[in-house]
Amino acid sequence: SCYQAILSRFAYKEIRFPILEETQLFKRSVGEVTDIVEKEMYTFVDRNDESVTLRPEGTAGCVRAAEQHGLLYNQTQRFFYSGPMFRHERPQKGRARQFHQLGVEAFGFSGTDIELELILLSAELFNQLGVMDAVTLEINSIGSSEARADFGKALTSYLSQHKSELDVDSQKRLETNPLRILDSKDAKTQVILKNAPALKDFLSEESKVRFEALKSALNELSISYKETPSLVRGLDYYNDLVFEWTTTHLGAQATVCAGGRYDRLVETLGGKSTPAVGFALGLERLILLKETLGLFKEQKSDCDVFIAYVGDEAEVAALRLSMEMRKAFPDRIVLLNCGGSGLKSQLKKADKSGAQFALILGEQELEAKQVQLKYLREQKDAVQLSEEKLIIRLTDEFSKSQVGGLV
Ligand code: ATP
Ligand code: MG
Repeated sequence: SCYQAILSRFAYKEIRFPILEETQLFKRSVGEVTDIVEKEMYTFVDRNDESVTLRPEGTAGCVRAAEQHGLLYNQTQRFFYSGPMFRHERPQKGRARQFHQLGVEAFGFSGTDIELELILLSAELFNQLGVMDAVTLEINSIGSSEARADFGKALTSYLSQHKSELDVDSQKRLETNPLRILDSKDAKTQVILKNAPALKDFLSEESKVRFEALKSALNELSISYKETPSLVRGLDYYNDLVFEWTTTHLGAQATVCAGGRYDRLVETLGGKSTPAVGFALGLERLILLKETLGLFKEQKSDCDVFIAYVGDEAEVAALRLSMEMRKAFPDRIVLLNCGGSGLKSQLKKADKSGAQFALILGEQELEAKQVQLKYLREQKDAVQLSEEKLIIRLTDEFSKSQVGGLV
């Protein structure tokens, strides 16, 4: 598919890792006091009485597997993966309990260059999919864990003075994970947050310099972005850069892609300290967005060349012809009509299939060692050709029409 081609042109390689992991992996990485771990995981006990969990996200499993197979030691890596993720949340448009993510992770790079590369890569994906005009890049710096701890204390002490005015969830978070209160959707809580201390003021000089450098590079690269101080992300492992691509077209399910830097995770999971950055893109939301924008209107046809045959004697010849066509036109879809029926009804199917050409093999063609080429979309007479001449003719016809779009 199209995203794999883009990723490999950026020199990213596919990695595959299990869907099922020890529960502890997600508790240690995503964080005990996050929405995902607190209420969204599919966790159960297996036959050995071990607690296992269907992966709610990819980064933890990717790090675990890469580390275990020695792929992170003294080397850099650029990985991507795609596959199902599981979260027990209320199903609605753009929110499913099993959904799919395309994940991209880069290990061993500590600079802003790789962060910019990942942003350019995600932008390229959106460009190729034709949705760039419908998404906005939002960025923030959440600094180091020390800075967040200091900020957390200040935030807790400020919010404690307003405890009774906060929503119930936020009241609980006050003790467990005060930063998550910034994410609260409660209107009253948001009002109180307006005068709260700002994370920005707790960032180290180093973090500030990094973030400024990133922003000026984005400007030079003509990537527009919005700085969003409330963007903190629902996972514990991030530091410094966090970013999201959001859209106004999908209601509350506004985030299509989200990521950031996570320099501490590899070490947390038992590896050698390794800087890392990554993002995850929700494939269903991307498809929904394309649908909403009407980008699926020009339905791609089921095939380019439809092969019809009449009579049992033509069966093997038709199969052989279909293989020759696939060999000669590797970018084209060749559909062999299986299951028989009369020529008339086969040609009806050919028309419905959207194919440009029908190839017909009947008794007469078989005897003459020729194939009948029928034009389905043009007012041109059908012709009988040898297979060799047929390939020359179709090569010529296809070169006139451009190859179809990406999915
Ligand atoms: P949200 O705020 O919408 O719950 P999130 O912060 O939980 O998103 P992440 O963990 O950052 O999401 O996952 C990255 C991306 O995966 C999201 O931006 C979204 O596109 C997609 N995603 C997350 N949860 C779901 C879901 N339940 N159904 C479909 N897509 C999802
Ligand atoms: Mg969520």
